[in-house]
This record gives sequence, structure tokens and C-alpha cells, in this order.
Amino acid sequence: MTLEEKDLKYIWHPCSQMKDYEELPPIIIDHGKGVYLYDKDGNEYIDIVSSWWCNLLGHCNPKINQAVKEQLDTLEHVIFANFSHYGAIELCERLYEIILSGLTKFNFSDNGSAAVECSLKMAFQYQYQTGHCEKTKFMCLTDGYHGETIGALSVGSLDLYAKIYKPMLMDTIHIEAPDCYRCPFGKCRDSCNAECFRFAEKEFAEHGNETAAVIIEPLLQGSAGMRIYPPIYLTKLRKLCDEYNVLLIADEIATGFGRTGKMFAFDHAGVSPDIMCISKGLTGGYMPMAITITTDEIYNAFYDDYKNGKAFMHSHTYSGNPLGCSAALAVQKILREDNILENAQKRAVYLHSKLNSALLDHKNVGEIRSIGLINAIELVTDKDSKTGFDSDLRIGYQIYKRALKKGLILRPLGNVLYFNPPLIINEAEIDKSVAICRDAIAEILG
Ligand SMILES: *Cc1c(COP(=O)(O)O)cnc(C)c1O
Repeated sequence: MTLEEKDLKYIWHPCSQMKDYEELPPIIIDHGKGVYLYDKDGNEYIDIVSSWWCNLLGHCNPKINQAVKEQLDTLEHVIFANFSHYGAIELCERLYEIILSGLTKFNFSDNGSAAVECSLKMAFQYQYQTGHCEKTKFMCLTDGYHGETIGALSVGSLDLYAKIYKPMLMDTIHIEAPDCYRCPFGKCRDSCNAECFRFAEKEFAEHGNETAAVIIEPLLQGSAGMRIYPPIYLTKLRKLCDEYNVLLIADEIATGFGRTGKMFAFDHAGVSPDIMCISKGLTGGYMPMAITITTDEIYNAFYDDYKNGKAFMHSHTYSGNPLGCSAALAVQKILREDNILENAQKRAVYLHSKLNSALLDHKNVGEIRSIGLINAIELVTDKDSKTGFDSDLRIGYQIYKRALKKGLILRPLGNVLYFNPPLIINEAEIDKSVAICRDAIAEILG
């Protein structure tokens, strides 16, 4: 039995129709270095999707490796109720220095979905304990994504992930999201006044009083196909939330740690959420770890004598895992000392212009949108009508398979191909990735 056959004998891979593996078996990775992954036969792949957006500073980064190794010989894990450790404390100190003002209290969990669940429960209980037991609902944006657990799916809107489970989900209020490429008001994202914000105003007028919180992916709806919208939307949302006493939850799981060109997406807007969820890049893609961060005001609504029953009785076994903290601390040190964001911003300009000159003229490339190093190439059958390809054609998937053969991991989101590379990618690696992407598109679409 080959290793691939053995894999398929036992493993049910995530987010996959397993029958697809008959044609495209799992690629067994032997090791990684920087932006490259190497399979067991020695083929190399540029990890242009940062292994599901979490690898921030390259695979097997020597500094992160060293930090985790040192931690491993000191303390691997400890119960986080009533106990603590050096790494968690220092990590919060470091994060406190870079996060938005007002966010002061850190609640640890071990994956993005869990951090979202935590934020929803926290918001609900805060409203309840401050005299607003009528605020039981949540709002979210259409086409949003916040993870795969039941609460997170309830505030998500992508049918691909949520539809079948609808009978299991909470009843949530969906605000029509900004769709800048196909703006219903005929505006463009660089100059508009977020005219689409009226959809939020309408839902708030109708449901604001019964709503505990609204959750959003700031500036970038990742799973929706890297849809990008302007910061003014966030500024307006902050104001509306204050008017209706609705908490604002920022899901910065995909956008945090420099992905959008600033440390956090909310930094572009100059306003602060009430609760922020971070994960993915937090540990550089090394360890599963997430944090839900909130304000003193929310924290204080839970702070009371035990007998009053106001505590947040939410826990995850691996909360505050020391190995995760050591990786996250190493990431913070590198971001601070090695000018990572500044350099990434230079590469971002380079990457976007390379993609534009390689692909913008192609008859099926509708838009190449970018924020930070993230670039999304939206494929359409016709540029004028902006019609997408029929999803049964799996155009993105066909291109993905071609790109794989050439050494690029271009795993698509439907009709959208995207680049979301580690922040340390260099110009030569960008050139190579763009060339492979262009060739793979040409082979499928001409
Ligand atoms: C990935 C992601 C999540 C879920 O994180 P998991 O660790 O996969 O559970 C939630 N929200 C956003 C915006 C994400 O990109």
C-alpha cells in the first residue's frame, strides 16, 4: 500500500469531497522552509495561501522553532484556571502594546471558531448582566464566515458551509454585506461613502433593540472570496452600535498581524471594537491558539462575589497553552525587530503590480483586488456583465490542479483565485508565483 493509499484508508480530510482524492490524491509533505513546502518525492510548492492563512513568517522559521524548543523543555501545558505561566503573561503584555485602544482583557482558547463562540457568549452574558435580557440576537453580514462550530456557523452566511445545518442554527439577523466589485449603487470602493451602509441602518432600526452584538470580518470577507470593502464602513458601524447599545465584535482571525498592511484591519478605520477575536497568524501558524480580547467595561460586568453567579464559566482545556504562547511571543519579537510589516507593504505594492500586468488584460479576469499582500483574482465569463462561471464547472479547482503541478498552492474560493502569502515572501518568489498562476489560467481558460 502506498503512503497515499494508507492516508485515504484512515483520514477524512477537512473541507473536502473525499471522492475528489481518487483523481488528486493527498500530497504528502515532508518538510517546509520559508514560503516553500516539499513533498515526499522532493517536489516543491510555494505556499501562496499560507497553509490556510495562518503561516505568517514562513515554515520552519528558525527563531520560532528555537522558542518552541526551549519552551518544550520547561513546561508543555498547565491548567489555566487559577494557574498561569511566564509566556501567557508576557504575551498579553506584548499584544496589549499593539492592539486597539480600550481592549484590555485576554481570554484564551485554541482555535478561531472557539474564539468566536467565546465572543458571542461573552456579549450575550454582558447584555444580560447589565440589565438587557431582551438583547438575545446577533447580527452578521451576508457572505460572512466565522468558523464551523454551531454558534459560529449561525453568524456565518455562506451556504456552502451552513445551508444543510440551518435547522440546527440560531436565528440571526443578516445585513446585506458590501459588494464593491458588483456595487448596487455603482460606486467604487476607493471613493465611496459606504452607501451600502443603509442596509445595516435598516436592520438596526428593525432589530437593534433585541440585538446583543454584531460580528464582522473587518475590511476583508475572506471565505466569501477575499471581498474587500472600505474602512468607512467600520467607522459608521461603530457609531451605529453605540447608538443602539449593540456590541461590536471584530473577527480579526484572518486579518490580524499585518495581513491587511496594518497590524489589524480595524487600524485602518481608527475605531475600536468591543470584542476582538484573533487566531491564525497569532502563533505564526505553529500552534492552535486563539484569544478573545475585550474591554474593562465588559470584564467588569462579570466581576462580582462568586455567589452572585456572574462569572464567565467558559473554558477550553488547552487555554493559554505554553507552547502556543512561546510561538506567539517569538512572532511578536520578529514583527517588532525585523521590520516585517514595512517590508511586506513594499512587497505588496510589487505583487499587486505584477499581477495586474500579468493578468488584468485576460478576458476572464474581472477584478484583481488587494489589501496588504492579499490579492484576489475574480474570474468571470464576461467582464462587462461580471457573470461568474457556473460553480459546477469548478473553474477555480481546475486551475488549482494545474498550478499544483507547476509548484504553486493556489487553492481557490469558488471562482476566486487568491494570493495570501507569508509576509516574508520575496520578489523572486512573487515572480515565480505570478508566472505559474498566469500559465495555469492560460491552460484552462486560454
Ligand atoms: C479561519 C477563520 C475562522 C475560524 O478559525 P478556525 O481556527 O478554523 O476555527 C473564523 N473567522 C475567520 C475570519 C477565519 O478566517
